[in-house]
Amino acid sequence: MTTQRLDREQDNTTSEQAPQGPAGSSERGGPRIGVLTSGGDAQGMNAAVRAVVRGAIHLGARPFAIYEGYQGAVDGGPGIREMTWDDVGNIMHRGGTIIGTARCAAFREREGRRTAAKNLLERGIDRLVVIGGDGSLTGTDLFRREWPDLLRELHERGEISAETMAAHPTLMVAGIVGSIDNDLVGTDMTIGTDSALHRIIEALDAISSTAASHQRTFIVEVMGRHCGYLPLSAAIAGGADAVFVPEDPPRDGWEERLCDKLAAARAAGRRDSIVLVAEGALDRQGERIDVDRLHDVIERGLGEDARITILGHVQRGGTPSAYDRWMSTLLGIAAVQDVLAATADSPAHIIGVRRNRLARLPLVQSIENTRAVAGYIKEGEYDKAIEARGESFGKAIGLFGALTRAVGSPASGSKRVAILHCGGLAPGMNAASSAAVRLGLQAGLTPLGVSGGFPGLLKGAVGELDWADVEGWMGEGGAELGTRRRLPTQEELYGVARSIEAHNIDALLIVGGFNAYRSGHLLATERTRYPAFNIPILCVPASIDNNLPGSELSIGADTALNNAVWALDRVKQSASASRRCFVAEVMGRRCGFLAFMSGLASGAERVYLNEEGVTLASLVDEIEEMKAVFDAGRRLYLVVRNEEASEHYTTNVLARLFEEEGGDSFDVREAHIGHLQQGGSPSPFDRLLATRLVSFAVDQLVEQFERGRRDAAFVGLVEGRMSVGNLAHLPEVADLTKRRPVDQWWMQFRPAIEMMARPGDGHDPRRLPMLDV
Ligand code: ADP
Repeated sequence: MTTQRLDREQDNTTSEQAPQGPAGSSERGGPRIGVLTSGGDAQGMNAAVRAVVRGAIHLGARPFAIYEGYQGAVDGGPGIREMTWDDVGNIMHRGGTIIGTARCAAFREREGRRTAAKNLLERGIDRLVVIGGDGSLTGTDLFRREWPDLLRELHERGEISAETMAAHPTLMVAGIVGSIDNDLVGTDMTIGTDSALHRIIEALDAISSTAASHQRTFIVEVMGRHCGYLPLSAAIAGGADAVFVPEDPPRDGWEERLCDKLAAARAAGRRDSIVLVAEGALDRQGERIDVDRLHDVIERGLGEDARITILGHVQRGGTPSAYDRWMSTLLGIAAVQDVLAATADSPAHIIGVRRNRLARLPLVQSIENTRAVAGYIKEGEYDKAIEARGESFGKAIGLFGALTRAVGSPASGSKRVAILHCGGLAPGMNAASSAAVRLGLQAGLTPLGVSGGFPGLLKGAVGELDWADVEGWMGEGGAELGTRRRLPTQEELYGVARSIEAHNIDALLIVGGFNAYRSGHLLATERTRYPAFNIPILCVPASIDNNLPGSELSIGADTALNNAVWALDRVKQSASASRRCFVAEVMGRRCGFLAFMSGLASGAERVYLNEEGVTLASLVDEIEEMKAVFDAGRRLYLVVRNEEASEHYTTNVLARLFEEEGGDSFDVREAHIGHLQQGGSPSPFDRLLATRLVSFAVDQLVEQFERGRRDAAFVGLVEGRMSVGNLAHLPEVADLTKRRPVDQWWMQFRPAIEMMARPGDGHDPRRLPMLDV
C-alpha cells in the first residue's frame, strides 16, 4: 500500500487487497464522498463501510472516512481521511465499526455543524453516506438543509472562497439505517438487527437448557426502547412463554393472566418458562414493566423465585450474521450509486430494505414516521403504533399468542393432518413441524406425525402428536420426524393410498425440498387412479439449497449460509502466513444461492455458479489475475465454487490447474465445507420463517376444509409476503432437470461480487435495482 497509510493496525490475512496495485490514490479525480457511522454501533456497519468505499472507487469516486461519527467532521485533520481499497480489506467479519462511532454533542450546535462543513469542504466533500440510527439521520437532514446558509456564513467570515461556495451548492446525502432495534418505519430490516437476534437466541437456547433442568422461570430483558421487534421475534424463535413490548402494553389484570398462562404451560408439559421483556415495556397506565416488577408478580402469583437475566450489550457484540454482511454490502453499494447520481435538487434518501429488495425511501418522511411511533405509545394509540411497525409485526403478536396457548386434545371428528418431511435435511424442519402441531391444535385440527418421510407413511409409522410432544423442538437442529429423500415409486403409490385411508388422513402437510414438491405433484396427478389422494396436499419449502419455486427463501437456507460463512471465515484465517488461493466448495446442488451469498458475505474474489457454468477462457483470465495480484503482494485469494458449478471443472480440477499455473507465486488449497452446512440449530430467521410459513399453511388448510376444497399447493414467501402456488404449475415455475426455480430473485445482485472484488476502471454502468417507496 503506497497511498496514505492509516495509523491502525493492518490485518494482513486479507484476500481483499486491490488486484492491480493501490487504488484510490490522491491523484485520482472524481466526486468525493464522505462515509461515517454514527450513534449506537451495530454489527454489519463494517460491511456497509467497505461497500461504500469500494463501490465509490469502483465508480470512479474518492471515498473519505469520517472517524468517530460527526466528531471527525467537527475535528477535521486526521478525523477525515481518504480511504483506499485495501483500507477496508478483511473487516466484514468484525463487529462494531472500524471507523468508530460516537455521540457528538458539538454537532447538535450550529457552530459545530459550520465547522464540520468547513472541514468537509477543505477536502472537496459534498456527498455523504451516513450509517446510523434515526438520531444520526435527523442530524444529517438538518445539516443538509442548513448547508447553503452555513457556506454563506463561512464565506462572510472569510473562511471559504466564493468559488468554493459556488462549487458546492448542496450537500447530497444518502442514509443507511444502522440500528439493532429495527425501529425505522418503512424499512423491513436495519443493519445489526439480525445479528442481535442471533445473540439473543444463543442466550435463550442456553438459558432454556438450564431452566428446563431445574423447572425454573427466567425473566430476560432484551433491548428495544420504543420498538418491540427484537423481543417479539426472539420470543417466537426462542420459544418463550410471554413477552412484553412497548407497542402492545398488556390490558389490566395481566399479572394474574401471566401466572395462569405459565401454570397452564407447566401443567401441559413445559419444563422451563421464559418471560421476555423489552427495556421500554410499559403497562396501560404508562408505568414501566421491568424485570423486578415481573419477578414480584411471579413470586406472588406462583410462589416461585424467578431468575433474572439482562442481556445488555452482548446484543450489540460479536461477529455479524451472514444477512448483516450480504445485505449491508448491497445497501452500501446502492447508497453510493444513489449519492453519485444525486443532483443539487435531489431529495435525501434512506436506502433500506423493503420486501426483500433494496428500496429508496424519502429520508425526512421516514424519520417523521419513526418519531411518530413514540408519540402513539405515549398517547395510548397502540393500534397506530403496531400498524406503523408493518403488517408482519401485528401478525407476529397474534402468532406468538397462538403458539404459546397450551391446548388440550382435539375434539373428536376433527380433521386429521399428517405432517411429514421429504428431501434433504434442512435446519428448521423441527421448528416447522412443532409450529404445525401447536398451530394445528389451536385451529381445531388433529396433527399426526409421520416418521421417516414417505417410506414411513408406507409402513404406517403415523401417530397423533399433542402440544407437549413438540416441546423444545423449535431450536433443535435435525428433524425429529426424520426425513427421506425418496419419492414414492409407482408401485408404492397403492401402499401410500392405503395408509392415508387406514389412518383417516384428511390432509398432507409435506415440509421439505424439491422431492417434497415432486411427490406432492405426483400424488395430485394420480388422483383419478387413487381417490385417497383427493385431499388437500400442501408443501412447505425447507431446503438448504434455497432452490424451491414459489418462495424466495426456504427454511434452512439462512442457517446453511451462516454455517458456510462461519467456515469460510476460518478458512481465510488459516492462510494468514502464506500466499494462498483457496478454492472452497459450498453446497446448493445446481442452485447458486449458497455459493453466491456466502461469497458476497465473506469477500470472495470469484464465485462459480451452475447458472453460469465455468469456461476455460474464464479460468485463464482468473489465473492471470491471480499471478498479478500475488506478485503485487497479495496473501489470499478466495474462490467459492458451487458444488455443481460444472461437471468437469470440479473443485479439484480448479485447484490443480491453479497450482500448476501458479508456480512459485502462490499455493492452492481446496476446502470442502461439506455437511456442516446442514447441521446445527436453526438460525433465528429460519425459525421465524418456519413459523410464519406454517401458520399461513394451517390457515390455508382450514380454509380448504371449510370450502370442501382439495388443492395441491405450495406456500412461500414472495417479495416479503406469504403466497400460495398451484402444484400443477410446478413444471412451469421450476426447471425440473436443474431442480431450481426458473426465476431467481438474487441473480439481480450478481454484479455486487465483482464490484467488491475489483476496482475496475471507474466506469461500471451497472446499477443494483432499487424500489422507490
Ligand atoms: P442514533 O443515530 O443511534 O439514533 P443518537 O440519537 O445518539 O443515535 O444520534 C447520534 C448523533 O447524531 C448525535 O450524537 C449527534 O451528533 C447527531 N444528531 C442526532 N440528532 C441530532 C439533531 N437533532 N441535530 C444534529 N445532530 C444530531
